Amino acid sequence: MGCSFTGMLTFADAPDTTSPMPLLFLGHGSPSNALQDNAFTRSLAELGATLPRPKAVLCVSAHWLTRGTRVLCLPRPRTIHDFYGFPDDLYAVEYPAPGAPELAREVAELTGASCDGAWGFDHASWAVLRHVFPAADVPLIELSLDVLMGPRDHYDLAGALAPLRDRGVLIVGSGNIVHNLAAIVWADEAPPYPWALAFDAWVRDRLLDGDDEALCSYEALGGLADDAVPTNEHYLPLLYAAALRRDGEGVAFTHEGIEMGSVSMRCARIG
Ligand code: ZN
Repeated sequence: MGCSFTGMLTFADAPDTTSPMPLLFLGHGSPSNALQDNAFTRSLAELGATLPRPKAVLCVSAHWLTRGTRVLCLPRPRTIHDFYGFPDDLYAVEYPAPGAPELAREVAELTGASCDGAWGFDHASWAVLRHVFPAADVPLIELSLDVLMGPRDHYDLAGALAPLRDRGVLIVGSGNIVHNLAAIVWADEAPPYPWALAFDAWVRDRLLDGDDEALCSYEALGGLADDAVPTNEHYLPLLYAAALRRDGEGVAFTHEGIEMGSVSMRCARIG
């Protein structure tokens, strides 16, 4: 094509890398974090400064729920402001990263997902990635969560994405390990619920142990899981990161804490 505009480079143009890209699970919390300077958002900026530069980002989004898995195939996705009742300046934020249609079609082939031309970047991706890659110059695609699939199905589907790590794709699960909106306390210094601390610590320890079986079977915890994960769309992106971890890869927690009593902000880097 002879076009030198970075956003128009196709995925196949990029050379392969030698070492696998790390994996991330990012707790995104309130959309307000998109515009805030706090310990959480500074941890995201630090990640961006220390990660190898990816050729593209694939974000598994807690805010894109579909019947059947979908992958965002547009060259120039729009920014979606999928929240209500927040200050006007949050609705003015745009994240103009290019899409990566060629990579998206490959993800569709690997996973059986459908190519989607209607969605865009929801706040599970842009509200955190604008801190990690503030220039919005890394191509970004999203993968939806199929609401008809159980935790183990998601874990198994994630495994199909493994080859992408060797080709410079940064795979990011964006959700929250503990996410109970009904229990949220709207105060900056709200103390964490005991069950929020307990479930968050349990997940931390299972990640450190590499106990993926337990992570997939979290519902066996009964009431503790019911409180921490009343609906599992924010938990499931974690299973994508867990499934793609390779033997010998360590886990580093780049941020932790419970926000608004019932939302875990724990973030993990693997590899
Ligand atoms: Zn969310």
